[in-house]
Amino acid sequence: MKLASYAVQENASLGRVHLEPVEPTQSGRSPFQRDRDRIIHSTAFRRLEYKTQVFLNHEGDHFRNRLTHSLEVAQIGRAVARRLNLNEDLVEAISLAHDLGHTPFGHAGQDALNDCMKPYGGFEHNLQSLWVVDFLEERYALWDGLNLSFETREGILKHCSQKNAQGLGLLGQRFIQGTQPSLEAQLANLADEIAYNNHDIDDGIRSGLLTIEQMSEVSLWRDQKDIVDKTFPGLNGRRLVYEVVRHIIHILVDDLVKETQRRIQLSNPLSVEDVRNAKPLVAFSENMREQATEMKRFLFKNLYRHPQVSAMTKNAGEMIGSLFQHYEKHPTDLPFDFRPDDETYRRISHYIAGMTDRYANKEFHKLIA
Ligand code: MG
Repeated sequence: MKLASYAVQENASLGRVHLEPVEPTQSGRSPFQRDRDRIIHSTAFRRLEYKTQVFLNHEGDHFRNRLTHSLEVAQIGRAVARRLNLNEDLVEAISLAHDLGHTPFGHAGQDALNDCMKPYGGFEHNLQSLWVVDFLEERYALWDGLNLSFETREGILKHCSQKNAQGLGLLGQRFIQGTQPSLEAQLANLADEIAYNNHDIDDGIRSGLLTIEQMSEVSLWRDQKDIVDKTFPGLNGRRLVYEVVRHIIHILVDDLVKETQRRIQLSNPLSVEDVRNAKPLVAFSENMREQATEMKRFLFKNLYRHPQVSAMTKNAGEMIGSLFQHYEKHPTDLPFDFRPDDETYRRISHYIAGMTDRYANKEFHKLIA
C-alpha cells in the first residue's frame, strides 16, 4: 500500500537514541514493525494483562484489562490508518505501548501515586509510559530501554506538562510550541477513546452497574439501538448490546475517517512537517464530538463514579498510598538492583507503577497488612 505524503514514511524516521549495529533493511522489517515487536516482547506489555482498566482484575474473566484494551485500540487504529493511507505499523506500535506506564488499579492507583509524588513533581502516566520504553525495560546488552524510533515515542507521550517537556529535547518541543504530533499519533489517541468508550459500555452492562434502559440517556446509543431494533426485532440481552456497540464503533470510525479526510483536503499537508504545524487533523465532526462527549460524561457519572466502583477503587488507592509510605520508610524492601542510581522517591514510583494489581496486593499483605 502506498502511504500518503503526509503519513510517516518508513525510511524517514527521525531515528533512535542509540545507533544500532543492524540496519532495518537487513532484518526485513521496517523501523516501526521493529518497534511494535519490541513492545510485544517487553515485560511491561505482559504485565498489562494483570492491570485494571475499570474493573479490578479479579472481578471477572470477561472484563477488559489493560492488555485487551490496548489490543482493541490497535485494532481500531490500524483499520482507520489503512483507510487513510497512514502508517499502520506506527499506529499499531503506539497503540500497543500507550498504556505501558499505567499503575495497578486503574485511575485510583494513578491518583494515589500522583498524590504520593506531589512533593516531587507528581506522577504522569504518559511520561511513565515513555520512561518504560526509554529506560525501565532492561533487555539489551548495550542500552537501557527498547530504543524505539522517535515517532513511536512521540505518539506514546500523548500529554506532558510544560515543566517535564523542558527536559525532553526534541520530543518535548511540541508541548512548548503547541504544535501537533504525526497523524499516526493523533489517530492512536482517538482510537483509544473509541475503544474505551465502547468497551466500558459493554463491561458496564455486563457487570450490572449499567442497564440497557439507562443507556437510552445517551443519544449515540439511542440512535443505534433504534436501527438495531428495526433490523432485528425482539433482539435482547448480550447480543443486543454487542450489536448496538458494534454499530456505535462503526459510525464513530466512519465519522472519524470522513472528517479527517475533509480536514486534510482543506489544510492540504504535503509532509509530516506540514501536519505538525497544522491544527489537529484527525478528528470527529463537530456533531459527533458532541455526542462522543455526551457518552463520556454519562460513563463518568454512572460507571467510573458508581458507588460500587468507587468503593473498590478507594481500597486500591489506599493500598498504593500505604505501599509508597512503607518503601519510603524502608527503602531496603525495594529490590536492591532496581534503578540503584535514582532518588528513592523515583525508585518507589517506578517500582509501584510497574506493579500488576495482584503483585501490589501481594506486596501490601506481605509488608503491611
Ligand atoms: Mg488507553
